[in-house]
Amino acid sequence: VSEGKDRLASVRAVVLDLDGVIYRGLRPLPGAQEFVAALRRRGMPFAFATNNSAHTGGDYVNRLEGMGIVVSPEQIITSAVCAAEYLHHREDSPEEVFVIGGPGLRAALIEAGFALTDAPAADAVVVGLDVELTYARLRDACSAIRRGAMFVAANRDANLPVEDDLWPGGGAIVAAIETSTGKAPVVVGKPEPFLFETALRRLGTPAAETLMVGDQVATDIAGAARVGMPTALVLSGVSGAEDTASFPIRPDVVVRDLHELARLLGFHFATP
Ligand SMILES: [Mg+2]
Repeated sequence: VSEGKDRLASVRAVVLDLDGVIYRGLRPLPGAQEFVAALRRRGMPFAFATNNSAHTGGDYVNRLEGMGIVVSPEQIITSAVCAAEYLHHREDSPEEVFVIGGPGLRAALIEAGFALTDAPAADAVVVGLDVELTYARLRDACSAIRRGAMFVAANRDANLPVEDDLWPGGGAIVAAIETSTGKAPVVVGKPEPFLFETALRRLGTPAAETLMVGDQVATDIAGAARVGMPTALVLSGVSGAEDTASFPIRPDVVVRDLHELARLLGFHFATP
C-alpha cells in the first residue's frame, strides 16, 4: 500500500468537485449516485465545491436531484457563495457591491445582505463569469477599483469548456480588469484556500481528515493539498494521468472513476 493510500484511512468527510466528477454536462458519471448514497449510509459528512459562480445552490440541488442525487443547498459551496462569505467576514465589510457576473453571483451577494449597485462609487467589485459583459460595465468596474473599491474574483479560470470549443472564463475578465487597474484581486475560488476552508468550516472536520475529490490537478488537487487535505484525482474529467507528472503537487490517489475510489475507501456497493 502506497503512502497516498494510507492517507485515505483517516478520511472522515469528503468534498467533491462537480463537473468532471459527479457529472459531465447533463450526464451523471459512473458511480456518482452510488458514491453519494454510500456517504449518506455511512453518515460521512460531504459537500460539493465548484468554481462556477453562475448558478445558485438551489440550481445545483435541482440538477443533482434529476440525476438521483439528493443534497441540501448548504452542501453546495460555489465560488459565488464564497465571495459573499468573504466580504461578509471582512472587518471593513462593504455596503454597496458592483457585480460582474451571472444570476448565481448576484443572488449570493443579495442573500448575504449586500446592496448591488451599477455605480462606480461601489465599496467592492466582485467578478465572476459574465456572458453578457459590455465595455461600459468593464469600464465602470475599473473606475470603482481605481477609486479604492475592494476587488474580489470568484476564480481565475481561463476558459469555460463548451461543446467542441472553449469560451473565455471568468479569469479572462479578471485579467482585463487587472491590466487596466494594475490591481490584483482577492481570489476566493480554487486553487486559492478560501473555498476549501469554507467547505471545511461547513463540514466541521480537520483538513487532514477531509478528502478532496477532483478532476483538475491545477485547481482541485493543488489547492486542496496546500490546505492539508488528502486528495483523489478522478480521470473522468479534464486531467489525464499524465497531467500529474507536470505538477509539483501529486494527488494521494489517482482513480478511473468513483467506483474505484469507493473500493479504496472500503465502501461496498454493486459495481459493474
Ligand atoms: Mg471539475
